[in-house]
Amino acid sequence: MSARVLVVDDILPNVKLLEAKLSSEYYDVLTASSGEEALVKIQNDSPDIITALTDSADKVRGLQAGADDFLSKPVNDTALMARVRSLVRLKMTVDEWRVRENTASQFGVTEEKASVMNEPVEGASILLVEDQDFESDKIIATFRQDNDSVQSVKTGMQAMEYAASQDFDLMIVSLNLRAEDGLRLCSHLRSNERTRSVPILMLATEDDMGRVAHGLEIGVHDYILRPIDRNEILARARTQIRRKRFQDRLRANYEVSLSMALTDSLTGLYNRRYMEVHLQKLLQKNELQNKNLCVLLLDIDHFKSINDSHGHAIGDEVLKTFAFRLKDSLRSFDLVTRLGGEEFVAILPDITVDLAHLVAERLRRSIAEKPFKCGAKVGALTVTTSIGGAIIEAGNHSVQSVLDRADKALYEAKNSGRHCTVFEGDGKLDPNKFHYEERQMIE
Ligand code: GH3
Ligand code: MG
Ligand code: MG
Repeated sequence: MSARVLVVDDILPNVKLLEAKLSSEYYDVLTASSGEEALVKIQNDSPDIITALTDSADKVRGLQAGADDFLSKPVNDTALMARVRSLVRLKMTVDEWRVRENTASQFGVTEEKASVMNEPVEGASILLVEDQDFESDKIIATFRQDNDSVQSVKTGMQAMEYAASQDFDLMIVSLNLRAEDGLRLCSHLRSNERTRSVPILMLATEDDMGRVAHGLEIGVHDYILRPIDRNEILARARTQIRRKRFQDRLRANYEVSLSMALTDSLTGLYNRRYMEVHLQKLLQKNELQNKNLCVLLLDIDHFKSINDSHGHAIGDEVLKTFAFRLKDSLRSFDLVTRLGGEEFVAILPDITVDLAHLVAERLRRSIAEKPFKCGAKVGALTVTTSIGGAIIEAGNHSVQSVLDRADKALYEAKNSGRHCTVFEGDGKLDPNKFHYEERQMIE
């Protein structure tokens, strides 16, 4: 991956030096020698990472203003490259979520204008792993300023215990623990499912630069050198917390819009769009593995008259209960979806003809046998359904052709008096036969 990095500094040789280093690692480098020039380039060329070579006060101001990182002079090569790589990685992850959220929102969910800088940074929950009391006291006092809560521990074991039961916005890990290697803890936290997305900030000394670089390589997000500057640690922590919260929100939005796009809000079942994609995959798999699948199309009988007699809200109640009963009567790997209106599809992968007949009849009975409870006014309603089924043998089939075949069988079921199952090629099933067979199978 190639990222565009903007280097800002008023001393030309510094800029040139960094430009050369970054270019040799195949980054696309832009340079600016003043703040104004930097702003113009940010506007016009939208760099992925902005990096400025400057002293501490400016550094902190820059971080607060939203620059991604500032590098201290003199620039340490290993640390510089590792930090840039770490920032690029972070940037790419956030971008990836942004793209996915965008795709999901095209399914009809509106997206608010999101930016990392709009994320709140206060009230964060921080885990601090540091065994030097004077350092941890200082850090805790610093974060009090943002109303952050700091859980302070002295060993990796304690850190892991807290991390297993609590969610943190940031973890700060000392690389100078007396009894163990803090880098090993970082590596563990990065690979653990629960803590993988929590940013880590390393505390280190100048002598630790090799391990710092290693840490950045394995995905630790940032570091700070001792003696710890209160403003710098606060600024770096805020940058990470903002990003974490932004990423969490993108992910949550993505999941919500995805579920809105692929499920039916009334019944909670998957919708037609999902079914089509899923069925397509199953058809391909069946062709490869030479297996049968069964497609059942179910349509509620005289549903219009339920609506007409009792109102749309009761109709909705019936649809919900109908969906629940279908789901309840199927195997976990069978798929039931709402096609629209009062039509549903069940897909039964890897199934024999006999079993498919049995399941279809069981579904039909699960609807008709027990009246639907619809509240005090209406009481219980008897609902029935017609089912059209087709066994799809291994071969090259389109989703539409498969649904059409089940639809023809359904049409025949409606024409044969409703409240019955018709299978393509087999005609109307005999309810007594299957009722009896299933009882035998259970006993
Ligand atoms: P048939 O036995 O031939 O299937 O008759 P039917 O009345 O069930 O069939 P028809 O297709 O004529 O009517 C379907 C009705 O379903 C018409 C429509 O108003 C109603 N409907 C579609 N979607 C919904 C919904 O989400 N909620 C409710 N309450 N009704 C719906
Ligand atoms: Mg219908
Ligand atoms: Mg109907």
